Amino acid sequence: MKDIKSIRNDFPILQKEVYGRKLIYLDNAATTQKPQCVIDAINNIYLNFNANVHRGVHALSDMASEEYEKAREKVRSFINAAKKEEIIFTSGTTGSINAVAFSFGEKYIKRGDEILISHIEHHSNIVPWQMLCQRKGAKIKVIPVDDSGQIIFEEYLKLITDKTKLVAITQASNALGTEVPVKEITEEAHRHGIPVLIDGAQGIQHGTTDVRDIGCDFYAFSGHKIYGSAGIGVLYGKEKLLEEMPPYQGGGDMIKNVTFEKTTYNDLPFKFEAGTTNFPAAIGLARALDYISELGLKDISSREQKLLNYATEKLQGIDEVQIIGNAALKIPVISFNIKGIHHYDAGMILDKLGIAVRTGNHCAQPALERFGLVGTIRVSLCFYNTTEEIDILADGIKKVIEMFA
Ligand code: PLP
Repeated sequence: MKDIKSIRNDFPILQKEVYGRKLIYLDNAATTQKPQCVIDAINNIYLNFNANVHRGVHALSDMASEEYEKAREKVRSFINAAKKEEIIFTSGTTGSINAVAFSFGEKYIKRGDEILISHIEHHSNIVPWQMLCQRKGAKIKVIPVDDSGQIIFEEYLKLITDKTKLVAITQASNALGTEVPVKEITEEAHRHGIPVLIDGAQGIQHGTTDVRDIGCDFYAFSGHKIYGSAGIGVLYGKEKLLEEMPPYQGGGDMIKNVTFEKTTYNDLPFKFEAGTTNFPAAIGLARALDYISELGLKDISSREQKLLNYATEKLQGIDEVQIIGNAALKIPVISFNIKGIHHYDAGMILDKLGIAVRTGNHCAQPALERFGLVGTIRVSLCFYNTTEEIDILADGIKKVIEMFA
């Protein structure tokens, strides 16, 4: 792996100061910073070949279309999908999950059916299923988690019935850091013929993801959490299912033929890409995937795990800090509270010290309620963070404690 100094130099924003202090960015689970090569790739589109994709016969449109389809192929190989047709560009994880909730839901969910989710889902993997259940008269069932924040596998097994029509589960919790055994969950669901959707928003950026190895039927992720820009996401779906599902949005590009009486839909993946997609962001995402592949996903994962261990030990060394979520397998996310100090107050003081952390419920209210909490402070690390930054965080936390003493 490149040395940390040159990695950090790849990210212009990391050289910034806030309030006259060096920026320490520890909010990577919310969104990651962008390397210069991704910024350049997106700039290059607007400077050199901006035109709508799949529409023009002219040179610029051809170039844009070609780069867009190359981006799709890049995503396919990155997650090891079998076919390019299984990769649908969406607006983000939320867009991808809603697409499945509407489209799969329309076709397969009926009154009395059950959808299994876990207690540690992001709101994006709760609300679309609730909305679907309201439309169809179906029901959500929730897999409980233990005190470490890991799902209880035996309880999962008990919840599977002949009414279960989908398991929708996160690969990793954004609120607690728990890495969920999605492969085992998928295998078990498939034993009962139940399809599985995985919310990969917090999983894909931390190591190798192989959708065929996991075996999942749908996989969703966001470009902005994996060093690409906002406004782009991916829905992977197995071809057979996607073929059977109706489109959830109508418009340009998703059609073959339109009359006032009848429309025939386009082939995959275009059937699910109505209207002008965010093609510059898709092309930027492909560059981001190249960038992290060049760094090495195994090296990224091992560096991040070292940072996680270092930060966990540092925070455990402060008496007033209580970490929530101690699963054996975690992504580099640490959620904690400081005894007697509101998480917002702590977050605001840390901010003034140049340290960006997230505070609040992390869009995972039920996950925090499980631990009797309304919010935490969340530190989320990635490969460009350093142990020095973690030291400064620990000093900052001690300063917060002193101020409130
Ligand atoms: N799922 C998880 C686990 C997340 O952490 C997030 C965002 O934080 C989302 C879904 C939603 O992602 P987006 O807002 O990019 O659609």
